[in-house]
Amino acid sequence: MTVDVVGVPIQNVTMEEAVSDCSAFLDSKDRRIVVTPNAEILQLCVEDAAVKDIICQADYIVPDGIGVVHGAKILGTPVKQKVAGCDLAWNLLGEAEKKGKRVFLLGAKPGVADTAAQKMKEQYPDLIIAGVQDGYFKQDAPVIETINAAQTDLLFVCLGVPKQEQWMVAHRQELNVSLMMGLGGSLDVFAGTVKRAPKIFIKLGLEWLYRLIKEPWRFKRMMKLPVFFVSVFKYKKQRRKAK
Ligand code: UDP
Repeated sequence: MTVDVVGVPIQNVTMEEAVSDCSAFLDSKDRRIVVTPNAEILQLCVEDAAVKDIICQADYIVPDGIGVVHGAKILGTPVKQKVAGCDLAWNLLGEAEKKGKRVFLLGAKPGVADTAAQKMKEQYPDLIIAGVQDGYFKQDAPVIETINAAQTDLLFVCLGVPKQEQWMVAHRQELNVSLMMGLGGSLDVFAGTVKRAPKIFIKLGLEWLYRLIKEPWRFKRMMKLPVFFVSVFKYKKQRRKAK
């Protein structure tokens, strides 16, 4: 079941349900795409129809962030919970390990994906890392060839938004994978190069504030959050008029 948040169909699922759905995607070579937009990205969809079109080509869109959860609630169609992309990906690795599926890590600065792979193996010793590739490559074809040659089932694409979504949609037919997921800075989080907010911030719905303190250059991007709520109220009004 999805709910419509500013024109984007967002999955109304718990984390457990999202993991189970994504795990089922691993069972067929259907080249499914999962994206994990937060409120800033949904605001980008409002402002840029091309980005919205790309995001909406994904098969499964989860609400990454408390802003999206609040947005859905304001629109009268609340979702069960926030499903952070990096948590979903991390939990899914457990399923990949159990099923013997092969994981490829694409993105982040050189060396980061290798460290992320090591951390994954610490938690999931039987996980098969099919390969890694940093996100600063010049040509797509050799990267796609490497991913296919590695017999990848699950591909994490961490090139930032909207580059990763554009990349996945553009190369979907060439990539012989079961599932690809756009996960932004998740490899940095897994590798430990970027720290996740302390639990108390997450519990209070203030993860964004922690990020702002730690990475103040994000200020301009984060200003999209209040703008997103304006868009949500506008969307609500428009929908009411249309009824
Ligand atoms: N990145 C990359 N290739 C690029 C641009 C960015 O691999 O050409 C990586 C960058 O190193 C970082 C991630 O993409 O690991 C983007 O992280 P960010 O936290 O900005 O993600 P977002 O907020 O866009 O989801």
